Amino acid sequence: MTQQVYNFGAGPAMLPLEVMQQIREEWLDYRGMGVSVIEISHRCEQFDEIITSTQKLFRELTGLPDNYRILFMHGGARMQFAAVPMNLAGRVTSRKALYCETGNFAKIAAKDAAPFAAVKTIISGADSGYTSIPALSSELIEQDAAYLHLTSNNTLYGTRWNNFPDGGDVPLIADMTSELLSRQIDFSKFGLVFAGLQKNLGPSGMAMVIVRDDLLEHAGPQVPILMNYQQCARDNSLTNTTNTFAIYAIRLVLEWQKKQGGIAAIEQRNLRKSALLYALLDESDFYTGVAHPDHRSTMNVTFRLPTEALEDRFVAQAEADGLYALAGHRSVGGIRASIYNPMPEAGVQKLVDFMRNFMRTQG
Ligand SMILES: *Cc1c(COP(=O)(O)O)cnc(C)c1O
Repeated sequence: MTQQVYNFGAGPAMLPLEVMQQIREEWLDYRGMGVSVIEISHRCEQFDEIITSTQKLFRELTGLPDNYRILFMHGGARMQFAAVPMNLAGRVTSRKALYCETGNFAKIAAKDAAPFAAVKTIISGADSGYTSIPALSSELIEQDAAYLHLTSNNTLYGTRWNNFPDGGDVPLIADMTSELLSRQIDFSKFGLVFAGLQKNLGPSGMAMVIVRDDLLEHAGPQVPILMNYQQCARDNSLTNTTNTFAIYAIRLVLEWQKKQGGIAAIEQRNLRKSALLYALLDESDFYTGVAHPDHRSTMNVTFRLPTEALEDRFVAQAEADGLYALAGHRSVGGIRASIYNPMPEAGVQKLVDFMRNFMRTQG
């Protein structure tokens, strides 16, 4: 019997144990077919059932309005950094696109968009080291812009938008990679939402894209077929061979979410989990939270210890205790506990106990 390891990695991240067990059980024989789910055609009836029921289940769980499409696209979240401007800024690369620079991924998104749109960064958290989300006043949202891009949860810094701006006529685009399905979202506020799968949804390498019907029509002829939203919607994400395994895995994750009581129940659990850690950060002088209390993420909890040497020791000892991958992103350092939907409360409690003990013995 091996020791239970809790995986706090930021992504690819842990999947629910029940999901992985089910994958193992049906790996060699997908529901009586005698072949594996990764060996069947993406155009066969059984796979059609997988993709259709995945979309249906997502709608059921999120209450996604009917005028939004659910697409599965190649290239993870980052491919969307280019696909969004290519599709939405239209044929004119001088079309303005607004960006909220609240962290590393927002910055990369703006950079990747620059060849395809006139990128304008309207707020930046750089001065605070991205530890909070700067206020966004409505006059900054120029109404002739093609869209406004924001990162709803900033994975490296552990901050999130609690309330989303009203874009007026400007469609709101959100990169929800590190938090989709972790809290209830009113999708009708957004023109498009995308998420790389590897944090809350499944394996890496693909993205889920939720797009409002009227935004499908702006792509110019230069947009590559596999990045064209309208083409993807028309082909129900099967323009070419998709990552069938990834979509199968998403369905299992969604079924697991439903069994957990749906998004409202998961959201409450995520609040409880993150509150355990934030309470300790607030009461101790040894640990210092990175994110401003008003913008704390429930998915990525970031903190510092008094010295880098202590942080290194913390990470090594935690790992020896079965608490895996707690080092912060290489560009920011410190400690980051990624506690996505599948992380059980017991895992967070074990981390809190470890932190108290470490503080007592090393502090
Ligand atoms: C992880 C992450 C990405 C990058 O995802 P890839 O699939 O590697 O491109 C982008 N945005 C956010 C917010 C992320 O957390």
